[in-house]
Amino acid sequence: MTHLMNTYARQPVTFTHGEGVWLWDTAGKKYLDGVAGVAVNGLGHAHPKLTQAICEQAKQLIHTSNLYNVQRQEELADKLAALSGMDKMFFCNSGAEANEAAIKLARLFGHKKGIENPTIIVTEKSFHGRTMATLTATGNRKVQAGFEPLVSGFARVPYNDMEAIRQIAEHNDSVVAILVEPVQGEGGINIPDAQYLTQLREKCDKNGWLLMLDEVQTGIGRTGKWFGFQHSPIMPDVMTLAKGLGSGVPVGACLARGAAADVFQPGNHGSTFGGNPLACAAALATLSAIEQDKLCSNASKIGDLIRSEMTQALQGVAGVVTVRNCGMLIGIELNRPCGDLVAACRDAGLLINVTADTVVRLLPPLVMNEAEALQLVQILAAQIRKFLGA
Ligand SMILES: *Cc1c(COP(=O)(O)O)cnc(C)c1O
Repeated sequence: MTHLMNTYARQPVTFTHGEGVWLWDTAGKKYLDGVAGVAVNGLGHAHPKLTQAICEQAKQLIHTSNLYNVQRQEELADKLAALSGMDKMFFCNSGAEANEAAIKLARLFGHKKGIENPTIIVTEKSFHGRTMATLTATGNRKVQAGFEPLVSGFARVPYNDMEAIRQIAEHNDSVVAILVEPVQGEGGINIPDAQYLTQLREKCDKNGWLLMLDEVQTGIGRTGKWFGFQHSPIMPDVMTLAKGLGSGVPVGACLARGAAADVFQPGNHGSTFGGNPLACAAALATLSAIEQDKLCSNASKIGDLIRSEMTQALQGVAGVVTVRNCGMLIGIELNRPCGDLVAACRDAGLLINVTADTVVRLLPPLVMNEAEALQLVQILAAQIRKFLGA
């Protein structure tokens, strides 16, 4: 009997080691990894530069706390500022924590403007985490059910719907921020209109709201750019990161710009582990490898290749709704729940994920090459055809 709490319906497989886009289980069976630890292992498994950076840092210093200056944290902040154009950042250990920091920042920003009960606009089908505030911000009843009372101070609108936001702006003068994903990941790889972020930016500018982007899944090269917002000609006021940032060593960040960058003062927020030397060394090595190996453009190229090859392989198959991607954030929507595909693909040596019931979600390592991508398409297309009886 396991002593682990029953929080996950785990698949019956245990991995022992990995290399690049490949994983091996305890029976020696080899799998092509189309999930990358849920968008975490951008560098794939056992990337030598990452392994070396972690080992070297562990030999020197792992943790000292934020009571003191942390050199690696300063270096990581400088690097992320240069890549993103953001001014200041706070380091934590997960995506939920990064969003908690953003929510607290927005509320404090509101209070400083004299708004007593600040409201944050969030969207349907969003995912922001599992803490009380972030599960409240999440637009999925399954995540919230049983954990009431929820946190107050959120207003919900449909994703990719400017009219709903226009209406809130007219009737609610307590709004301080919008929190939204540039592409919804858990919600089913929902890609908004090209103008969406630009229109949100305009709305925020007009009303003095903060535009806060949850880039926990879309950030760090996943969409083919360093950050998802870089597909639009805008800058956010706040951006959150986690998943791909540390390649599996837990690290998250809340980045801010302009007025938002100076909201927090000593005593307002903190984290014991946040931004420790080990986590920051892993993040620095991740960013450096992505840069050196040109993994953003690889994500764009391979993501598009997978989409076009999958589209072709599934042409005319009844039951396939769409194949869509933004870089290596790839969704194949079927017209029926398809959770059974996960086990079928695993048996065939491919790891995939299904989200929003009907969407096959692929989040391959950013290091995937063309041959590996074609192999993925071949296995997956055959399993989808079989599943749909085509
Ligand atoms: C995964 C995810 C989170 C939560 O991150 P955790 O590290 O699991 O807390 C938040 N937002 C988005 C968009 C995510 O994909």
